Amino acid sequence: MRSETGPLSATSKRVNVLVRDMQSEPQAFDRVLSSMCTEPHPVARDAAERFLATNPGDPGTYPSVSTLEEDAIATLGSIAGLEEPAGYIASGGTEANIQAVRIARDRAERRRPNVVMPESAHFSFQKAADILGVELRIVPTDDDFRADLEAVRASVDEATALVIGVAGTTEYGRVDPIPELGEIARSVDAMLHVDAAWGGFVLPFTDYDWNFDHATVDTMAIDPHKMGQAAVPAGGLLARSEELLDELAVDTPYLESTSQATLTGTRSGAGVASAVAAMEELWPEGYKRQYVRSQNNAEWLADALEKRGYDVVDPTLPLVAADVPRSTFDALRAKGWRISRTATGELRVVCMPHVTREMLASFIGDLDRLEVR
Ligand code: PLP
Repeated sequence: MRSETGPLSATSKRVNVLVRDMQSEPQAFDRVLSSMCTEPHPVARDAAERFLATNPGDPGTYPSVSTLEEDAIATLGSIAGLEEPAGYIASGGTEANIQAVRIARDRAERRRPNVVMPESAHFSFQKAADILGVELRIVPTDDDFRADLEAVRASVDEATALVIGVAGTTEYGRVDPIPELGEIARSVDAMLHVDAAWGGFVLPFTDYDWNFDHATVDTMAIDPHKMGQAAVPAGGLLARSEELLDELAVDTPYLESTSQATLTGTRSGAGVASAVAAMEELWPEGYKRQYVRSQNNAEWLADALEKRGYDVVDPTLPLVAADVPRSTFDALRAKGWRISRTATGELRVVCMPHVTREMLASFIGDLDRLEVR
């Protein structure tokens, strides 16, 4: 297999300085509790470096990385219950979501189609609606932060092109009732997109109905660069059939290949190669072990916070949200913890693979030492 990169000999001085700083700073992952990305698995890092100079956007010129991309989609299909998957490795969940909305818009023979999604859906859909000129109908979630089915039912009509369900929400890690959303979508002849950008690599080890096998899902976002432990950029767009993906294809006159379905033109081969390497190494057993570890960590943290009197949202996936006062949150950030807040102000901790029990114990130790409450 051809590797288009040379050895990493001449590193820029500026990059060297920043790398050194990063090693002594929390960004080196040891205090990062807010990110939905993680340290790439060593095999993924190595693969990314080797394929740094390749461009899967030009498969005629870079055939090896194109072959790798086919492997990546085949494995993503196995993970998501799709035997003959169509799709590609995108720059991330944002691109996958935009493209899914684009497919639905272009298939809908309606003048101004609408897209119905729960308020818990990622903000990338706002970008999609803005770019694509579709009407976004945002419906409330229920008491457990999942799409309210009655509200979805009341919002769809003959102009609905797409219903969106999230399998692992960004703020609370909730999984929407995907089969029921599929039925609602079908009742108005609309498509169903599942955003499993974050949840896709943990959900196979749970009892949730979330994938192509469980419902009439048309498209899915499932990102190797999140729980999949690949290097950034490695998002995944899956489509039930090539025909759906063809909605995105444009002719590519100056390239050796004849058409392109991706949103970006030139793309990173590093993301593609690292996705293949991570999935080959970890699917399924490695990911299963990681899910169990992350879920146990989330439950441990939820319990520790509850014991200290905070209101905690039950972590149904490895993500903990708790009602911690703003002053406490700010004090923890000042101690170097990279934490974030939900739209309603709760502390949010994502138990990604780099988040260990020791890190969480140290975080709770800092919390205990704070006077403010
Ligand atoms: N979808 C979900 C559920 C997410 O949590 C995120 C990001 O965290 C995205 C989509 C967007 O992914 P990206 O930032 O890779 O574009």
